[in-house]
Formats: sequence, structure tokens, C-alpha cells
Amino acid sequence: MDKALAQKVIDRLASAKSPALFTHLRPDGDAFGSLLGLAHALKDRGQNPTLHVEGGMIPMYRFLPGSDLVEDIPGQWPTKADAFVVLDTSTRERVGKKTLGWKQPVDVVIDHHISNPGFGSLNLIVPEIPATAGVLFRLVEMAGWKISPATATCLYAGLSTDTGSFRYRGTDAQTLRIAASLVDLGADPSEIAKNCYLSITQQRYHLKKLTIETLSLKDNKKSGFLTIMPDFYSKSGAKSEDTEGIIEEVTCIQGLEVASLFEFSPDGGLRVSLRSKGRVDVNSIASSFGGGGHRAAAGIRFPKDGEKNRDLVLASISKAISALKD
Ligand code: 5GP
Ligand code: MN
Repeated sequence: MDKALAQKVIDRLASAKSPALFTHLRPDGDAFGSLLGLAHALKDRGQNPTLHVEGGMIPMYRFLPGSDLVEDIPGQWPTKADAFVVLDTSTRERVGKKTLGWKQPVDVVIDHHISNPGFGSLNLIVPEIPATAGVLFRLVEMAGWKISPATATCLYAGLSTDTGSFRYRGTDAQTLRIAASLVDLGADPSEIAKNCYLSITQQRYHLKKLTIETLSLKDNKKSGFLTIMPDFYSKSGAKSEDTEGIIEEVTCIQGLEVASLFEFSPDGGLRVSLRSKGRVDVNSIASSFGGGGHRAAAGIRFPKDGEKNRDLVLASISKAISALKD
């Protein structure tokens, strides 16, 4: 982590009375963990952050302390706010449609996505730490700010979920040291795991079952793709956030290099999730279509021409797989 840059970010955050914190649409555990973790640290210093995410809080992460602080994105820039802070969000667009017309420039971006171009005045992007929550831990530690059990719980939840429960490639000694520090500071790994992984709604389970049944293998069984059709939601009663984790269920199939998930929306749009075992760089595939992410996990969003774009992405995966040396 660039210490001089981190210090500038600390100074900017410290100077704001009412920073407005944002994260990415379709928020995950790192999005909420980072948002709430930083909010607790700032509140403990007497600051008054506001927390915004498209659609507001989702039930799965309601167990996080302070989750009732999370609000939907307002129609206009909240004029009382004196800093525009964006966490865990790899592009300006991913802050949410409602924000795109705002004249207010983004002051601080804190992230770990290698594809992040840096769309703020200060951009602390640390790809060597596998979750934004981990970057925030190092930042708050460097600032010498208090890390309460509530802060530690939120940051641990972010770190744990973005590393696939400490299983993915980015998990190194530093990741585990950060996790250990957070446990020392009051995070309870078993309680957090219970909420994040060991408890799902019946609706979520139903959606997972419908989706997994669509698995189709290709490229000599080196790639597999899943499909979510719009009616899967009415059939299962699940919500859009319930797709989180489904793709991981198939990425682990032996022999598969790449797994993809194509979610069609009723208006003809398409959301794509890509996962790689590591040999294929799915970030470069996603980036070639205007998406992004990491080498082993990336995504793309197409506003229209869902089927045509699905075929283009599948062709790009086939090309990358055929380029691999066996
Ligand atoms: P997921 O497949 O879980 O939605 O996302 C996997 C990774 O790709 C995450 O790190 C996420 O931030 C990134 N990602 C997903 N969708 C998009 C997208 O439309 N654009 C960009 N730039 N990144 C994305
Ligand atoms: Mn993240």
C-alpha cells in the first residue's frame, strides 16, 4: 500500500464532518462490510457519515452491526455531505445510474480491483489485498483510529466473503494476519460464517436449484455456463441478490477452466459473471466487453441484445481456452 497516498486519503476522510459513503450496485459482503466498517470507524471519531447503496440494505447482510444505517441512493447528491467516498467499486458507472448525472466529483475511491481506472481525486487501489475491507483495515490501523468490535465484525465479513472464506488465490499470509487482527479486535468468525454461508432462505435455495439445472458444458468440457431466465425469480420467489455464490458451485467441477453465468433480464439485457480456475484471465475477457473485475472473477453488463452478447462472450471464452497449452 502506498503510504503517502494512504495518508492523503486518511487526511481527506478525517477532514469531512459528514462524508457520504457509496458502494457498488448488486452489493456483496465486501460492499456492505466495507461501507459499514468504515462508517463505524468514522462514527467512533465523532463524524457523521451517511451510507448509500442502490436498493438499500439486503436481508442477508442485515446481521452486520449498524445495517439500519444503510440507505438507498438519493435522487440528488446529498448537499449536506462534504465528501464523496466510493468503496469497492471498479468503475464510476457501478456506483449506480442515479448518481451518474451528479456534478459532484468523487473525492475518494478505496478499492482492490485491478481493473479500477481511478475515478476519484484520490484513488487508493490495492490489488494485493483481496478485499476492500482488508484495505480499510490497513488504512484505519495506519490512521490510529479506534477499531471497535462492530468495525472488526463488518471488515471481517467483507474479507471473508471476498476471499471465498479464505479459499481463493489472493488469500496470503497478510490476508490471514488481517483476519487474525480483526478476530483479536472482536470479530467472531463462526458467527459471521453462520450468517454468510450456513443460512439461506428457501427461495434462494430454489433459485440455485433451477439455475444449476441449466449447466451446459462446452469447449471439451473445459468451460461450463449457467443461465438465469427472468421467470426463475417468479418460480422461486428469490431476489436478484440471491444469485451470489451460485457460480462457485460449478467452478469447482474438475476439468473446468472457466465457468460463466448469464442472467437475462425481462428488458433484453444481460448480466454476466465469469470465474476462472486461474489459467484463463477472465478480467481481460470481461474488459474487452466493457466489464471488469479480477483475473479469476469478473463480470459484464449488457443493456441489450442479451442472446447475441452471450454468444460473443462464449466465443471469447472458447478462444481463450483453445489458446491454453495442455
Ligand atoms: P460477480 O460475478 O460476483 O458479480 O462479480 C465478480 C467480480 O467482477 C467482482 O469483483 C465485480 O466487482 C466485478 N464485476 C462484476 N460485474 C462487473 C461489471 O459490469 N463491470 C465491472 N467493471 N466489473 C464487474
Ligand atoms: Mn470486493
